[in-house]
Amino acid sequence: MKKIINEFLNLVKERNGDEPEFLQAVEEVAETVLPYIVEHDIYYGKNILLRMVEPERAITFRVCWVDDSGEIQVNRGYRIQMNSAIGPYKGGLRFHPTVNMSILKFLAFEQVFKNSLTTLPMGGGKGGSDFDPKGKSDGEIMRFCHAFMSELFRHIGPNTDVPAGDIGVGAREIGFLFGMYKKLKNEFTGVLTGKGLSWGGSLIRPEATGYGTVYFAQKMLETKGQDFKGKQVVVSGSGNVAQFAVEKSIQLGAKVLTMSDSSGYIYDSEGINNEKLAHIMYIKNVKRGRISDYLETYKKAKFVKDKTPWEVACDIALPCATQNELNESDAKTLLNNGCLCVAEGANMPSTLGAVRVFQKAKILYAPGKASNAGGVATSGLEMTQNSLRFNWTREEVDLKLKEIMSNIHDSCIKYGKNEDDDYVDYVKGANIAGFVKVADAMLAQGIV
Ligand code: NDP
Repeated sequence: MKKIINEFLNLVKERNGDEPEFLQAVEEVAETVLPYIVEHDIYYGKNILLRMVEPERAITFRVCWVDDSGEIQVNRGYRIQMNSAIGPYKGGLRFHPTVNMSILKFLAFEQVFKNSLTTLPMGGGKGGSDFDPKGKSDGEIMRFCHAFMSELFRHIGPNTDVPAGDIGVGAREIGFLFGMYKKLKNEFTGVLTGKGLSWGGSLIRPEATGYGTVYFAQKMLETKGQDFKGKQVVVSGSGNVAQFAVEKSIQLGAKVLTMSDSSGYIYDSEGINNEKLAHIMYIKNVKRGRISDYLETYKKAKFVKDKTPWEVACDIALPCATQNELNESDAKTLLNNGCLCVAEGANMPSTLGAVRVFQKAKILYAPGKASNAGGVATSGLEMTQNSLRFNWTREEVDLKLKEIMSNIHDSCIKYGKNEDDDYVDYVKGANIAGFVKVADAMLAQGIV
């Protein structure tokens, strides 16, 4: 089996050698899915995974805009349309200086499996730009978003490709992007998700990724007769996903000790409560400041510069910032400090080395494609509401989100549970469950 996996990975490496994040995401999938393919005749000998690692379409484009000082700026825009076997391409847009082909292809590839797991009819895609929103005025953000959409609009549509937010793309950016799409197409459609409530958005969409991650962790803990009550939780990030993961953890009775951003982490030994979280939301969403500003108000807290929070002892870790933010040594530290559950709110936050440490120790570990699927699932619910021209209540959407997370958990158990010791390998479970649905659709549709 090792030989088959290595031959496959070498082939992918030959074609994509300069894309380390993409190769990392493919390796993690190949290790679990290739053995499954070999054992199942319907998939064997059809190069099905080789077809899945090649984007159906990868678009790059120039984005020119004028900054506040009158200077012309040039950025690069991307949309990776990875796989449309089970529905229109669906996946977020990321605006961050580190955005490149490798990052977006890894995200688009993960998205294919994640969207399949939600059981909703959504293919996988991802896009974005190397534009850095930090420090830009609202006017600059608007001009950039308009310029970006003035090209992207040709490639997307409610039945073709439906982007959403991701790092650096929140409610403000989705508004500007939607405004330009509507102007250019002269139609009001559900072409983006994460929209404002008065113009087609869904209740619970902003909360969905963070809430969903905690719902998933709750399902994992249940298998061990545990829950969030009284647990110490360490969270990374302080953006959309982290904020609502913290909110739900607090609601379930946990004590949240940390949050972070790219400059370091804050540690509040008394716990981040609702009032403190509201202040963090103000710092990050309104003032657009840094997490260290927390100490101006909560003076007893500590700020640890340029570090990730994994050195803080906890029961549950929720990485909610970015890819490869938790490495092998961090994973060992978490284990040594007694961590029993890791649920990823971010995409691929754990390195392959860290994942292996968690798997070897057989702790509860959920990869992002399973545990953070609540965001895209609720985007799927937003699309349904747009098509029906009807809105569900907050309670209805939250209930559907909970059900979806529970179903994803069941799928992971179905394909990931060891027969001999009952250990659930959620990586294996999520990869195979996600694969089966997409592969079946691809086989049914022939070689296209
Ligand atoms: P936001 O832009 O709202 O927040 C991102 C957070 O991560 C910020 O605190 C940011 O800090 C931090 N961060 C970003 N880049 C780095 C870095 N290189 N090193 C350290 N910290 C960093 O994004 P989201 O909360 O939406 O996304 C967070 C993660 O969740 C991403 O991996 C995303 O792909 C994933 N995700 C998001 C979904 C969604 O619905 N939004 C859905 C599923 C997954 P700073 O402010 O300093 O940049």
